[in-house]
Amino acid sequence: MAKKKLAKQPALKSRSNPTALKPKAQSQKPGKFVYFFGNGKADGDRTMKDTLGGKGSGLAEMTNAGLPVPPGFTVSTDVCTIYYQEHGKIPSTIDREIEENLKKLEKAAGADLGSIDNPLLVSVRSGAKFSMPGMMDTILNLGLNDRAVEGLKSRTQNGRFAFDSYRRFIQMFGNVVLEIPKEAFEHEFEAIKKARNVKLDTELDEAALRDVVSRYKEVVQKRAGRAFPQQPAEQLKMARDAVFRSWMNPRAQEYRRIYDIPDHIGTAVNVQMMVFGNTGDRSGTGVGFTRNPATGKKEFYGEFLINAQGEDVVAGIRTPQPIGELEQVMPKTFRQLRDITTRLEKHYRDVQDFEFTIQDERLFMLQTRSGKRTGYAAVVIATDLVSEKLITPKEAVLLVDPESLSQLLAPGFDQAEWKKIPVATKGLPASPGAASGQVVFSADHAVDWTQKGKQVVLVRRETVPDDIHGMFVSQGILTATGGMTSHAAVVGRQMGKPSIVGAGQLDIDEHARQFRVAGQTVKEGDYVSFDGLTGEVKIARVASKPSEILQVIQGSMTRKESDIYQRFEKLLSWADQFRRMGIRANADLGDQAETAYAFGARGIGLCRTEHMFFGEGRIPIVQRMILADNEADRRKALDELLPLQRSDFYNVFKAMHGTPVTIRTIDPPLHEFLPKREELMVDIAKLEIQGKDKKQLEEKKQLLQRVEQLHEFNPMLGHRGVRLGITYPEITEMQTRAIIEAACQLAKEKIKVVPEIMIPLVGHVKELRDQKAVVDRVAAETMKAHGVKIQYLVGTMIEVPRGAVTADQIAQEAQFFSFGTNDLTQLTFGFSRDDVGKFLRIYQDKKILDKDPFSSIDVDGVGAIVAIGVQRGRQTRKDLKIGVCGEHGGDPASIHFFEKTGMDYVSASPYRIPVARLAAAQAALSVKVGD
Ligand code: PEP
Ligand code: MG
Repeated sequence: MAKKKLAKQPALKSRSNPTALKPKAQSQKPGKFVYFFGNGKADGDRTMKDTLGGKGSGLAEMTNAGLPVPPGFTVSTDVCTIYYQEHGKIPSTIDREIEENLKKLEKAAGADLGSIDNPLLVSVRSGAKFSMPGMMDTILNLGLNDRAVEGLKSRTQNGRFAFDSYRRFIQMFGNVVLEIPKEAFEHEFEAIKKARNVKLDTELDEAALRDVVSRYKEVVQKRAGRAFPQQPAEQLKMARDAVFRSWMNPRAQEYRRIYDIPDHIGTAVNVQMMVFGNTGDRSGTGVGFTRNPATGKKEFYGEFLINAQGEDVVAGIRTPQPIGELEQVMPKTFRQLRDITTRLEKHYRDVQDFEFTIQDERLFMLQTRSGKRTGYAAVVIATDLVSEKLITPKEAVLLVDPESLSQLLAPGFDQAEWKKIPVATKGLPASPGAASGQVVFSADHAVDWTQKGKQVVLVRRETVPDDIHGMFVSQGILTATGGMTSHAAVVGRQMGKPSIVGAGQLDIDEHARQFRVAGQTVKEGDYVSFDGLTGEVKIARVASKPSEILQVIQGSMTRKESDIYQRFEKLLSWADQFRRMGIRANADLGDQAETAYAFGARGIGLCRTEHMFFGEGRIPIVQRMILADNEADRRKALDELLPLQRSDFYNVFKAMHGTPVTIRTIDPPLHEFLPKREELMVDIAKLEIQGKDKKQLEEKKQLLQRVEQLHEFNPMLGHRGVRLGITYPEITEMQTRAIIEAACQLAKEKIKVVPEIMIPLVGHVKELRDQKAVVDRVAAETMKAHGVKIQYLVGTMIEVPRGAVTADQIAQEAQFFSFGTNDLTQLTFGFSRDDVGKFLRIYQDKKILDKDPFSSIDVDGVGAIVAIGVQRGRQTRKDLKIGVCGEHGGDPASIHFFEKTGMDYVSASPYRIPVARLAAAQAALSVKVGD
């Protein structure tokens, strides 16, 4: 077959950032719902992922490139939308379009669906825009019926193969389409194996398989109340609709929730001529990656099974052979596969994850797509592809999912501790990272136990897509069967969860909730630890240790010693060249500020001063300040706090090397610093019974009285934020003095400081005016006393909707704004930040909300208020400095939105800084201010 040259195309988009690198305009044709591919030509191409799904667009692109792809057609994702809109009905015009394409397929294949002489068999597979491994349904060998199976037998001269294919089809169709439990079929299958006294499926001969087929048909009749459909056209319609239905199955919905994939995009259905990897020893099937998806290493990676169908590899039922061994078995086919996959990587300019089948030594490509990878591998691959001149640094920045960088900061084991414990067993190292926790044997237990605050390791014979919720909460996943591309391996890597698969020595008894290994019995609740990079499993709890990146940041390892650190730094330095927004950190103490600076933060966006009140020995002073019932006593306590706050500010300023430091005056309601009312009542009752310590009793009673005075029904809406500073200006005075004194001290030491004093929870310009006057007065007095001039700013948080709406007035006083999107979300929705957990999940299940608005900005509501605040603030002050310091400042999707509003910076917690740097660069490369 002549190979067409693969055209140079832009790199693939990152999933978390759907608009990164805009593809060419979609060439979707209006009114067209079915897209054919075959004979070297396809209706679609790689730009049509929205319409054809990932699988469909990959098949089209490979067909156009002249690669050996079995012919077929893709029913577009629009049809899925129609299916749901029309309550499960497909318009007859679309049915006709499918029929026409089926005719084309029959012509291309030289075989007819249901024919007795030369039957065409097809696979019917799901394929959404974003890959959702194993979450939706697939049907193979469709087209077989009682007549066609005889046709298949006579054509292949292989009755065993024909009936094995038919029984697989009935089982899959019965399960997926007619919703008959798999066990009903397995029960019959086992009975026949027993009756024939055989162990392996492959030991059943044609006669036995004929028997299986007729028993399966009885199962269908009994369980579904109808005969197994014999008309291929009916089979195809039913299978297509079942694939559409599988889009909404619970595990697919859960998967989309975790990975933030919208529900409305739907799945395509790919109908493709079957090729058979199970015709004998010169056939096989496999999956692979052009580079190692766990480590990023440039090596041909994957596995295959001889004499098997595709599902056998991913299902993890048989442990497959490493792909390199294919070279010995079928050298020519192996070379062809290497050649094709290398070309695919060059063409897509990214690591490819491919599926292939070999039928009687003839190679067929069944899929290619951008390979999922660990965060570690993502950084290695992106930097390698630049070194190899396959992509530019800009493309490398767009290639890495920002969220995945946090995996690189995850801890590993303390090697000294780890070495002390004997290895119990070894499995395949599917996803790197250190996992340690209590063993659980079911996904539901994993969820229950973690809700109780335990750390768990999920141990399973093999995982299935239904386990996704348990995998998500576990420290790690350990399975006894399956290969590097089994479900547990694929999903573990994608989640960044340490995973080991195929640890074959584990003798797991899931019913008894225990496993045996190396002469030990491990019960549910016992501790295990494992290293997902080496595959070693140990029966013990082992302390973990900071990641290599963190060790470099913290100075216990040098940059030169860590290859991954150098790559991480390189990637982020490229990102810095492309981002518009600055990156600051939310840090309260000197050491946090140092970490944030080392991760690349250039400024503090929020220093919550009240966190300093919790420092050792400080709470009693703070309590004295709160309990004071006159200004003089309050000032006395504040005088004691002053030097402590000053030294904290000194440390934070110093750690930030002359970059701006935003310090917020006290924010939370004061009673947060006092003991709980109920606890005090218990203490008092005890002291009264004992009758000894009268003085302590009296003090506790006074405390209780003050606590009761300060009690609020809605503390979040109560005496907090700017309201505290207005009622107790001496607190603002002390904090201002501490800030300016620390700055003066550093100025004398010739260290640059840029203090920005921020007043929280302002909703009215007069609130800010009141506090600004206090700050300016005290700052002037302090600078005069020290004989130093400090350039400082006074600004406000915008976190009350009224503040955003009247931002034009507030900007008359404020020299900067920082959006507190945590409170702004709370106050815009009217959802209590502390209580939202009680109902959020139900909101998400009922699709009232797609995402948690406290994690990712609600663009339509809260986002609109932010946009108003930015626009009105700058209406008054054109160059008003604006940032965001709510949790959203570290969330890639929110950062994308903030880029559009024209904010100057985002501020995130220290460990989110790398994520924010990369996300800000991707945002700048893909959207424009004002979009
Ligand atoms: C906010 O409300 O977004 C914020 C940063 O302040 P806090 O979380 O301290 O209320
Ligand atoms: Mg707030």
